[in-house]
Amino acid sequence: MFEKQKEQVLQAARTLDRYGLIALSGGNVSWRMPTGEVLVTPSGMIYDQMVPEDMLVVSLDGSIIEGTLKASVDTEALLYIFQHKPSVQAIIHTHQPYATGLGLVMDEIPCNLSTMANATEGPVAVAAYGDPGSLSMGVEAVRALGERLAVVLKHHGVIAVGKDLKQALYACVYLEEACKTISVAMGTGNPMAAMTQEQINEAVAVFHRYGQDVPAADSSSASNKDVDIALV
Ligand SMILES: [Zn+2]
Repeated sequence: MFEKQKEQVLQAARTLDRYGLIALSGGNVSWRMPTGEVLVTPSGMIYDQMVPEDMLVVSLDGSIIEGTLKASVDTEALLYIFQHKPSVQAIIHTHQPYATGLGLVMDEIPCNLSTMANATEGPVAVAAYGDPGSLSMGVEAVRALGERLAVVLKHHGVIAVGKDLKQALYACVYLEEACKTISVAMGTGNPMAAMTQEQINEAVAVFHRYGQDVPAADSSSASNKDVDIALV
């Protein structure tokens, strides 16, 4: 079941490696189907060595519906997020170093780049520490996430969410790009310029009409074209 969607989950996971957001088997990708099942990457495997059939199908309460491998150790936390955020259809968890690093010295990543405004729709909060692989990671993520599209997990990484895989992917990639830029700015020792809320709002609006009018990946009508969700 969900063969095309499993391929999309795997493609998104491989994209994380390409953009330097994970190392080895770190992070995970999960996607809620319109019928309620959740696709999730397996635990502790290198994404380039996986095949779509390795993706797990789980129910919202954690029962394995399809798959023989162990699901991501963070599955309980991911399902907590899906349960408590009905608008969230996709979650990407990374260990991206710049955002995670800034999360060690900030309570909130400021939104002062237009591309970050495009993709996260505002500043990104830093959640209190929750043990990886435990429910507390999901609880703290939900607490800090609000209506934003990403949250930094203190001492751990990032969780990005979206209405689909592409939105979550853009959020974590552009958050990392912004955090690199912020790190450069901080390194000069000079005060950082901030964006106004009006500028942020305009950047969000522009992104909503950005790109080509290709139908979004839809699990009910997935085609080969829909598989191409990755940034290239
Ligand atoms: Zn992690």
